Amino acid sequence: MSRRTLVVCGDGASAVLLVCALARQAGQALSVIVIGEKGEPGRGIAYSTANPAHLLNVPAGRMSANINRPDQFVRWLAEHGIVAASWEQSFVSRAHYGAYLSDLLDATLKSNPDLAVRFVRGRIKSLMRKNLGWVVAHDGGTIDADLVVLATGNDRPPPIAPHYPRALASRITDDPWSEPDLAPDCDVLLLGAGLTAIDAAIGLHSRGHAGNIYFLSRHGLLPRSHVEPAAALPLDRPFPASPRGLLRAMRAKLGPSVPAAHWQGFMDAMRPHWPQIWQSFSVAEKKRFLRHAATLWNVHRHRLAPAVGAFLAQGLSRNLHLLKGRLRHLEAGGSGLIATIDHGGRATRLSIGHVINCTGPNANPDRTHDGLIENLVASRLARAGEAGIGLDVDRRNRVLDKSGTAQPSLLAMAALTRGHWWEITAIPEIAQQAQIMSGAIMEYLGILTAAARINRRH
Ligand SMILES: Cc1cc2nc3c(=O)[nH]c(=O)nc-3n(C[C@H](O)[C@H](O)[C@H](O)COP(=O)(O)OP(=O)(O)OC[C@H]3O[C@@H](n4cnc5c(N)ncnc54)[C@H](O)[C@@H]3O)c2cc1C
Repeated sequence: MSRRTLVVCGDGASAVLLVCALARQAGQALSVIVIGEKGEPGRGIAYSTANPAHLLNVPAGRMSANINRPDQFVRWLAEHGIVAASWEQSFVSRAHYGAYLSDLLDATLKSNPDLAVRFVRGRIKSLMRKNLGWVVAHDGGTIDADLVVLATGNDRPPPIAPHYPRALASRITDDPWSEPDLAPDCDVLLLGAGLTAIDAAIGLHSRGHAGNIYFLSRHGLLPRSHVEPAAALPLDRPFPASPRGLLRAMRAKLGPSVPAAHWQGFMDAMRPHWPQIWQSFSVAEKKRFLRHAATLWNVHRHRLAPAVGAFLAQGLSRNLHLLKGRLRHLEAGGSGLIATIDHGGRATRLSIGHVINCTGPNANPDRTHDGLIENLVASRLARAGEAGIGLDVDRRNRVLDKSGTAQPSLLAMAALTRGHWWEITAIPEIAQQAQIMSGAIMEYLGILTAAARINRRH
């Protein structure tokens, strides 16, 4: 039997989780080509940091890449002499997680020599249909594929620097992971106050930065810190089918003043149910949720490792500052830049030396700056999810084309499928998705092979 070719677009954690799940099932049926621009499979944005102060925001016990072996990551840590003395310390550094994925990939490929996997370094530019399959164009050539999985992760935030003249633009960093070389006493404005901005502040602090660091947030909120959660039960079924109903039911369940351990335990207990709850909302309710509740959701759901929470609390009494408002514009002046910040109809001016764009990923494929996604949407091979986040996919993660038809040979995973699943951007959910997708991929390849056999007979 000739091998079928699967191309995975993107080489982050999702790609590695999918390859490992496939290795458990695929045998000789498949040749997998993973294309990514980093050339470090598994690391992606989250796990390529070498800074030991960049910690996981999920305890190690829930970070196994293999849903059949929930203690796999904790065992890997123990084998490498990294044993958490307390629950707080189980939020280990993300660099360890990158090394674990790398080891896991090596071990999986060694123990499954039948599965042919090739890693290609390059940036994918477009996909074109070819018969039942695809031609994948990247900056080093083209590859024919029977099946394509899009695993390109989060989109970048919309860039700001191109809107300013060159002299000003040199004081703006649009890639929050690029660690700009700044004078240690320079005052820095971080646009955003989420996990990306806090990562950037940790990066500056680790490099000995002594200048002021301002977080600018529209709502003036910072993510909450994890505390060890108390065991809790989810809401009773049926779950409320509207955001308002849900909020009411959550308040009734938790009571008026809830200790952090209780609401966090409750959030954890609800986590497996969010996809079902999200899917029960109408499109208008999803949009209302995104408009009015997403910020509150984010600060409660995407929590900080306890040590990062402590760093923030200490920093806020020193050189870290939280500002509430929205950046109106930047101009030359003061110690390099003057930022005009709007809040409640009033404008304040802040003198800074540099700006780092930590506004968080763009979720809407219609406004993407990623060439591949832009291309897919422009060529009607994909469309935005109904609430304007992620790509529109069905429950089998098949990408819907512009007319809403599911394409069995084009799948998407992780952040790209957020519009359908909502809770799908972290390892516990991606590992599950990878396992389910590998089954669906093998099923589809079985159908292709059976069809080819019938065609040959006739
Ligand atoms: C800072 C940070 C911390 C996080 N911490 C945790 C955590 O502690 N626990 C947890 O469970 N989750 C965490 N997450 C969530 C994280 O997104 C997932 O765990 C996981 O890393 C997602 O991997 P991915 O492969 O889907 O995306 P990514 O990591 O974004 O990888 C996608 C890869 O595809 C490449 N790519 C994109 N477009 C193209 C293209 N056109 N051509 C070629 N290559 C392309 C990118 O360069 C990238 O390497 C964190 C996320 C971030 C950003």
